[in-house]
Amino acid sequence: MLPIVAVIGRPNVGKSALVNRLSGEQDAIVFDEPGITRDRTYRPAFWQDREFQIVDTGGLVFDDDTEFLPYIREQAQAALSEAIAAIFVVDGKLGLTAGDEEIASWLRTQNVPTVLVVNKCESENQGLAQAAEFWNLGLGEPFPISAIHGNGTGEMLEELIKHIPPVDEIEQEEEIRVAIIGRPNVGKSSLLNALTGESRAIVSPVSGTTRDAIDMVVRRGETTYRLIDTAGVRRKKNVDYGAEFFGINRAFKAIKRADVVLFVIDILDGVTEQDLKLAGRIIEEGRAAVIVANKWDAVEKDSHTIYEYQKMLDDRLFFMDWAERIFVSAMTGKRVDNILDLVDRAAEGHRKRVSTSVINEVIEEAVKWHSPPTSRQGKQGRIYYGTQVTVKPPSIALFVNDPKRLDDGYRRYMEKQFRQQLGFKGTPLRLFWRGKR
Ligand code: GDP
Repeated sequence: MLPIVAVIGRPNVGKSALVNRLSGEQDAIVFDEPGITRDRTYRPAFWQDREFQIVDTGGLVFDDDTEFLPYIREQAQAALSEAIAAIFVVDGKLGLTAGDEEIASWLRTQNVPTVLVVNKCESENQGLAQAAEFWNLGLGEPFPISAIHGNGTGEMLEELIKHIPPVDEIEQEEEIRVAIIGRPNVGKSSLLNALTGESRAIVSPVSGTTRDAIDMVVRRGETTYRLIDTAGVRRKKNVDYGAEFFGINRAFKAIKRADVVLFVIDILDGVTEQDLKLAGRIIEEGRAAVIVANKWDAVEKDSHTIYEYQKMLDDRLFFMDWAERIFVSAMTGKRVDNILDLVDRAAEGHRKRVSTSVINEVIEEAVKWHSPPTSRQGKQGRIYYGTQVTVKPPSIALFVNDPKRLDDGYRRYMEKQFRQQLGFKGTPLRLFWRGKR
């Protein structure tokens, strides 16, 4: 995944023209309206040795009474939250507007480096004069450009790439962050040893984000896995006071940092209350997960055994039915090699992005099979449209006439439809039901 640059600005300032210019595509300019139904499309772009993706967020307005106003803001926020930098486009012909000021003050709270670009400055002589008043926005130097003709874009890109790492550094960041989580004695350290055993290509300890956290990096094929806080996994129990308490806080922190959690349970104990607590946390944090049922070697088996244990997991972890599971022995190494395949799949589901048009096809189809419930007053629930607002975990906003009319049963039905039609294996999926405002 290349770093993302978000293009922000009021409608009609020329955001899509700029996106076209920077991505070298000269296709028709998309009608620039407040950004509700339009897909966020990611276009590849580069300058010198930097590569990035550029995304147009749709026209941003703060002062309008459009019913989707909060959503527009949310979508811009979502775009910005995954962006490494932002380009804020203003209209040099029109001059500084109140709308620009609102966007600027919002941007200043966002902690994303911003390049201020004054578009429609066709004449290079007058450009600087046109741009000057935008110093007032407090976002640093305004760069006069013409998205249509291309003048000035070199200077602004020069500024932009200061915030973008060179390609070879980015590849290092392409890794799946994995946390090994479980109660004491379920076999986490044994599993860590098995996963990082001699047969692996490269294992190297790297420092984690907190002072005493040590991560380990494992490579397999093209993929890098960062095993989070392996020091915490190995920490010996019953040493200090409050070791258990320390353990769970550490586990919570590791979950927070992970993309995928290896949720280790001791199959001899089944799923305990403490396990449920950890599972709940994984879901709360929106992490992908693989359920690793360990110590399978110690189970006496006949031909039915696996089904009985499957059933037990189904029952106890019904709220995590999206997670794939695997029965392993960290001790003998049985099936340990397959764990990373499941991690790959879960990571893929976790970062999966589906276009608005596909989401709406699924909704349309689902509603045809099974229409939303009608209240006793005869009012029926209606879904106007949906769109995926973010990834990790995938989150879909559904715009409806009245969220109260779409009961839990129908919400579960919808989630099931999304999963059946679109995948999302191994990851929680969040649906936000939004009424008209
Ligand atoms: P941790 O506290 O979760 O890190 O658990 P450890 O890795 O220290 O393992 C706890 C105990 O379970 C140790 O005595 C291990 O030898 C044992 N153990 C771990 N994995 C397995 C396994 O796959 N099968 C069996 N039979 N024992 C295991």
